[in-house]
Amino acid sequence: MPSTPTAEAILAGNRRALAKAITLVESRRSDDREAAQALLSDILPHTGNSIRIGITGVPGVGKSTFIECFGQALTRAGHRVAVLAVDPSSPIAGGSILGDKTRMEHLSREPNAFIRPSPAGDALGGVALKTRESLLLCEAAGFDVILVETVGVGQSEHLVAGMVDFFLVLMLPGGGDELQGIKKGILELADAIVINKADGASALLAKTTQQHYAGAMSLLRHRPDWTPEVLTCSALHGEGVDTVWQMILRFREALSSNAAITEKRAEQNLAWLSQLINELLLRDLRSHRAVAAALPDVEREVRNSTLSPLQGAQKILALSRA
Ligand code: GDP
Repeated sequence: MPSTPTAEAILAGNRRALAKAITLVESRRSDDREAAQALLSDILPHTGNSIRIGITGVPGVGKSTFIECFGQALTRAGHRVAVLAVDPSSPIAGGSILGDKTRMEHLSREPNAFIRPSPAGDALGGVALKTRESLLLCEAAGFDVILVETVGVGQSEHLVAGMVDFFLVLMLPGGGDELQGIKKGILELADAIVINKADGASALLAKTTQQHYAGAMSLLRHRPDWTPEVLTCSALHGEGVDTVWQMILRFREALSSNAAITEKRAEQNLAWLSQLINELLLRDLRSHRAVAAALPDVEREVRNSTLSPLQGAQKILALSRA
């Protein structure tokens, strides 16, 4: 069991304490969960003081190159940057898209940066909950820019969009939406699209792609106080990355003038509450003795079609209430 770090150590910005606290939050042991929840309520009054930015894009679009460059520009400007990840591949394949190579090599050595790979071995919803809690811990430790990275291959971008203030979608020059692995839903989540690799032979194509997406975005309905922007950059050469930060500052300015960020976070907290209630109910249910004893039989019957899934679920619930 990881030893419990103190809230004081985290608030003092102690990185070891922060890393340990995240390990605690990620633990599945029930005594660790309790210690984690106690720690989280201690640090909660000291959270909320960061700009939370989600970054998504297909594998190879340049997410780690972008974060490496963007993160270093921010630490040079005096910010403290934490990078978290929600990796949809870990529960399915047991491997990981985001965590298995040395990524953000320089940024990871910066004293004012903190990089944490995705928690592994859990359902995606569970991974997202842990990342949300880790995000609060990073804020309490004084990180004022939190980047939450995910691969744009399904549900994970919705989960990440639900925990950040600003959601940025990285894209490649050229290619239709299908080629980019992008579903229409993701454009609706985006506060900005950044066409990466706008360099060399692709520079011109990146401009055309920018125009294409600017047109596509203008057809979608967005929040009244922010019109999503479409930019280009070259993360590899560090060009246009500063423009992305300027845009995020404009966004913050636009939203903080009408308290929209506070409102957005309040709504996210409500969604989080209901997700936690689901998680806790499910955990209670599974640890119920009669349920745990009956579940394998019910599963077998559902598999053999001798019981419908609805009947099975009702049987389990009846057992939990008995
Ligand atoms: P990720 O899978 O989204 O994290 O993508 P990576 O950051 O690992 O980048 C994938 C490949 O694209 C690497 O070979 C990078 O060097 C390259 N790359 C990333 N950004 C750029 C860029 O702005 N321009 C060019 N030409 N290549 C880039």
